[in-house]
This record gives sequence, C-alpha cells and structure tokens, in this order.
Amino acid sequence: MLLHPERLKSLVRAAAEQVIASAPELTALDQAIGDGDHGVNMKRGFEAVLGKLETIGTQPLDEALKTIGKTLVMTVGGASGPLYGSFFMAAGDALSHSKRLPDDLAEVFGCGVGAVSARGRSQPGEKTMLDVLFPVLETLRSEAGRPDLIERVRVAASEAVARTVPMQATKGRASFLGARSVGHVDPGAKSSCVLLHAVCKTLEAQQ
Ligand code: ADP
Ligand code: MG
Repeated sequence: MLLHPERLKSLVRAAAEQVIASAPELTALDQAIGDGDHGVNMKRGFEAVLGKLETIGTQPLDEALKTIGKTLVMTVGGASGPLYGSFFMAAGDALSHSKRLPDDLAEVFGCGVGAVSARGRSQPGEKTMLDVLFPVLETLRSEAGRPDLIERVRVAASEAVARTVPMQATKGRASFLGARSVGHVDPGAKSSCVLLHAVCKTLEAQQ
C-alpha cells in the first residue's frame, strides 16, 4: 500500500515530534517507578526515525513501518526499544501479507500488539504499554467503520493511561517495586498514548 509521501511523512513526523516533546514527562514518570530513562530512550529512537524521514516517505506503508521498527530496535535502549520495534515490524509484516488499510486496520494493529505481548511475555493488566495498546485494539475492533472512530481511539487511549495508575506492575523494572508501583502512570502506557494521539490528530487534519 502506497500512501502519498507527504501524508506518510507528516504522520511519522507528527508522531516523532510529539514523543520528543514529551520526553521530559516520560522521564519523570520513569523516575517514579523505573530508572528514569524512558524519555531519553524514546527521544533517541524517534530522532533517528526523523533522520530517516525522506527514505520512509518513499516507501510503501509496510516497508515504512518495518524501517521505523528496525530503527527503534537499533537506537532505543531499554525494554521499550525491542517492544516498540516489534510492534512496528509486525504491523508492517501483516501489511506485507495481503492485509489492506483501512479495512484490516484492527487486524494489522492486532499483529503489532500480539508481537509486543510475545516479546515482553506480558498481558494486559500488568501495568505496561499493553494496557493502552490492548484497549485501543478493542476499540478498533468494536468501533470499526464508525465516523467517530478516531475520537473513540483518542478517548480509549487517554482512559487506558489513567487506568494504569491503580495497577501493580508485574513486568519490567516497575515490577521490582511491588506494591510501591501502585499510584503512578506507567511510562510506556503514556508514550503509547502520545504516539496514538499524534497519529489521530494528524489523520483528522488530513481528512
Ligand atoms: P527500561 O524499563 O528497560 O528502562 P524503558 O524505561 O524505556 O525501558 O521502558 C519502560 C516501559 O516499557 C514500561 O513503562 C512498560 O510500559 C514497558 N515494558 C517494560 N517491560 C515490558 C513487558 N515485558 N511487556 C510490555 N511492556 C513492557
Ligand atoms: Mg526505564
């Protein structure tokens, strides 16, 4: 599937710039229940993605997603690099294998979510990025075709971030804190929300 290069580039640019702008907030969240590097990790990864923007713009969407995934794996330190990398590579792979957008959006997104879950050996409810990605997948499945799908995704992501606060982490560094991980937003859940909101906003502007 070939998106117009400028549309593809503006989507990727918006997502990357929003993550980079959110780095201080992501770092602060990771200082509370992790090692304080999530903002720096994500910023490094998405700066590298921005550096490949011209190449990405010329690629079909499946290849572009794989390029983003590989770039994140190579440049983001910490657990989140391979996890986000797996998401984008698996979503790209799904598109390479006869899935089409927008009809198969939930399936393609689901392949990404499944790859995160497999790579992280994690499930929703463990206070991770999956606690945003999974509810958004459910929304894509249940609300497919609705004219307000973008708004519903945005709301689903925000509400899902808030629901990580009372959770106790059982995966990743935050799990080392046990019950002390309760009462904080999960950093990866927040970065997933930032990415999704940036994509939603850009898609709305392109409509
Ligand atoms: P690290 O934990 O190695 O310092 P980051 O700080 O960049 O890496 O990322 C932390 C985020 O990664 C967490 O907030 C969580 O959302 C996510 N995460 C960590 N482990 C897992 C896992 N096993 N499955 C899914 N997400 C995870
Ligand atoms: Mg960290």
